[in-house]
Amino acid sequence: MAFEGLTERLQNAMKKLRGKGKISEADLRDTMREIRLALLEADVNFDVVKDFVKTVRERAVGAKVLEGLNPAQQIVKIVDEELTKTMGETEVPLNKAPKIPTIIMMVGLQGAGKTTTAGKLANHLKTDENARPLMIAADVYRPAAIDQLVTVGKQIDVPVFEMGTDTDPVEIVRQGLAKAEEDHNDYVFIDTAGRLQIDEQLMDELARIKELAHPNEIMLVVDAMTGQNAVATAQGFNDKLDVTGVILTKLDGDTRGGAALSIRAVTGKPIKFVGEGEKMSDLDVFHPDRMASRILGMGDMLSLIEKTQKEYDEKQAQELTEKMRENSFDFNDFLDQMEQIQKMGPMDQLMKMIPGMANNPALANAQMDPKDMDHIKAVIYSMTEQERTEPDVLNPSRRRRIAAGSGRPVQEVNRMIKQFNQMKKMMNQVSKGNFSGMQGMMNN
Ligand code: GDP
Repeated sequence: MAFEGLTERLQNAMKKLRGKGKISEADLRDTMREIRLALLEADVNFDVVKDFVKTVRERAVGAKVLEGLNPAQQIVKIVDEELTKTMGETEVPLNKAPKIPTIIMMVGLQGAGKTTTAGKLANHLKTDENARPLMIAADVYRPAAIDQLVTVGKQIDVPVFEMGTDTDPVEIVRQGLAKAEEDHNDYVFIDTAGRLQIDEQLMDELARIKELAHPNEIMLVVDAMTGQNAVATAQGFNDKLDVTGVILTKLDGDTRGGAALSIRAVTGKPIKFVGEGEKMSDLDVFHPDRMASRILGMGDMLSLIEKTQKEYDEKQAQELTEKMRENSFDFNDFLDQMEQIQKMGPMDQLMKMIPGMANNPALANAQMDPKDMDHIKAVIYSMTEQERTEPDVLNPSRRRRIAAGSGRPVQEVNRMIKQFNQMKKMMNQVSKGNFSGMQGMMNN
């Protein structure tokens, strides 16, 4: 799987900080060293790594202690934000011509995935915008390249303009563009030749095509599996052609991550799409933030951090998870949780972020009246420490005493204890991955 090694190493680097109330100079140094090694091993460009580590360190040292976030969470947050920034912050859309057709010139080394990706992008536009693209076969050096484009065209039902292998590619492009004009195509893809390495002759040919066609987008296609080489390739093409966008292919393979993390920083050019398979539908818009959380491998945990950064503390959450698992959740925890919930706002929002919970119908009723909460708290405050930690001892006479102490009717005390027991059961089930018990609990 893509990024596997990098994800694991980054997580390990940060795991060591977990549970620490304070991060010492030495802890930070160790963590930063591991992050640096993880990135270098993933084949991220050396200068990019250096800048990255420097920024994260500065931010980590200078960071105000954010209320509610423990140090490990703060570092995760900073690393996530900096990974996102390194990859360009936000998605960058396809350039469009003010007047049709938009001309997209596909360039890249042989085997990078130019032809396939031209097809994918044409298909994407067709599906998304009902577009009517035309593809021009301008790779005259490999007859198979033309056949391949024609096959792709048939597959996605997009016309291909070709003149065999005996005409100069610039002339083919000229006639292809005239044909697009005639047929009112709204997008034109120029599939150019590639080589195994960058060479002058090829670059000159591409420069001539660029000069004739004035493309709105010069899309460089690079193979993510080639790591540092992908970055060097990108630099080479960019120096000569001033590309406008990058498509990273083969992210479905076991790429280490170097290309994804370096290209933007090294070339200044945005990654606009990523290819994640051989099928025509395997193309996605590149979202730097989503890619960062994918690399970190913490997905929803990051949104949870964001959501709870003010009110929550990871240590407590971890303890709670443990308690849920061990079934040792007691009235003291119950009280803590209620206080958290009161600070945090609607519990259903938070619950929805737990994988598998988003569509649980039980959440529709997961509301609590603040007045009820105060009553429940009063009841718990009237319990002895033993009663809070060992709820099983709550016999009828103890319940009557608690009712008198809290000023609540004994029926209410009974109901609350029953709800507590149901909640405890539910938490234990949720912690084991079984959500079906929720419905009954929430409707009570
Ligand atoms: P070109 O020489 O640059 O035109 O490259 P091709 O389009 O012929 O692609 C080379 C090979 O890479 C083909 O076998 C494609 O099916 C494959 N390929 C292209 N993009 C992807 C991708 O995103 N994932 C995978 N797994 N294979 C891809």
